[in-house]
Amino acid sequence: NYKKELEIVEKPSKTKCGAHFLLQANVEFLEELPRIKTHGAEGVGLLRTETILFQKTGFDLEAQLDFYRKVVEASGDKPVTIRLFDAGGDKLLEDAETESNPFLGWRGIRMLLDQNELLTNQLKAIYILSGEYPGRIKLLVPMVSCNSEIEKLKENISSIKEELKSENTNFDDNLPLGVMVEVPSVALMADRLAKLVDFFSIGTNDLTQYTLAVDRGNEKISTLYQPFHPAVWKLIRMTKEGADQYGIPVTVCGEMASKPKAAACLMGLGITNLSMTTSALPKVKSMLCNHSLSEMQKLAEDVSESNSPDEVISLLEGFGS
Ligand code: PEP
Ligand code: MG
Repeated sequence: NYKKELEIVEKPSKTKCGAHFLLQANVEFLEELPRIKTHGAEGVGLLRTETILFQKTGFDLEAQLDFYRKVVEASGDKPVTIRLFDAGGDKLLEDAETESNPFLGWRGIRMLLDQNELLTNQLKAIYILSGEYPGRIKLLVPMVSCNSEIEKLKENISSIKEELKSENTNFDDNLPLGVMVEVPSVALMADRLAKLVDFFSIGTNDLTQYTLAVDRGNEKISTLYQPFHPAVWKLIRMTKEGADQYGIPVTVCGEMASKPKAAACLMGLGITNLSMTTSALPKVKSMLCNHSLSEMQKLAEDVSESNSPDEVISLLEGFGS
């Protein structure tokens, strides 16, 4: 029952053998905020900001700050990772132009780099917030597909910092900058990108659709949408290995992290930070608390050698039982 399920929330985030892990919340709407505490999230690993963007006031600096402050306050003293607007694809602005391939189109960072006012306003809001809550805010960039996008974004960040300095506004000069790994090119080049950023966050929802060329929202081909495809798993491993070369942390914030046995498998790969919808936190935590790292590593090794999604699914089903 519900009450029993939440007992796990009070327990330390450690595996059976004592290895630490970090479970955080994916947040999109203000209604979700109370569950950060009740479900034991240690901060927000992914704040989707499209809700505010799609409101009439979304472009407004104060309206943004107000939204972000509510999320940070609801997170106690824990960190909050704010993702830049990820408009385009399945998250369309009302007056969006029609594109023949929206998922391969003007989306996320691609759009932001062309819409200077939108980007500047959001960066400014996030940097101001970082001054109000030192050490607690991180910045995450969606839909990155090449290094140059990060280089360009950094130029924008430098100008924002100059502007804030000239206004005597406080901000965190070392605000951690992270990249969503959700396009295969980024996973493949993770070892080169890792030196440009402070962390990676793997978005398995988009990584699955782009790796398998399967639209995540198209019901006709939904059976082909296989997050447990070994190809997706291979890209997750490459991302982790790339990150390890520069010692930057990796989070998984896609749906995969919310499936307890998949979470165990990710942990077996050395990915100890997972961010998910709050309702999944207790069951994932209980899975990780009740198994040892060596069991999870064995699972991750077996999954790495699999040839098909079915093989991966049956390995996961057999885990821990
Ligand atoms: C993802 O793609 O896995 C992700 C977490 O981002 P979104 O679902 O918002 O596209
Ligand atoms: Mg995504």
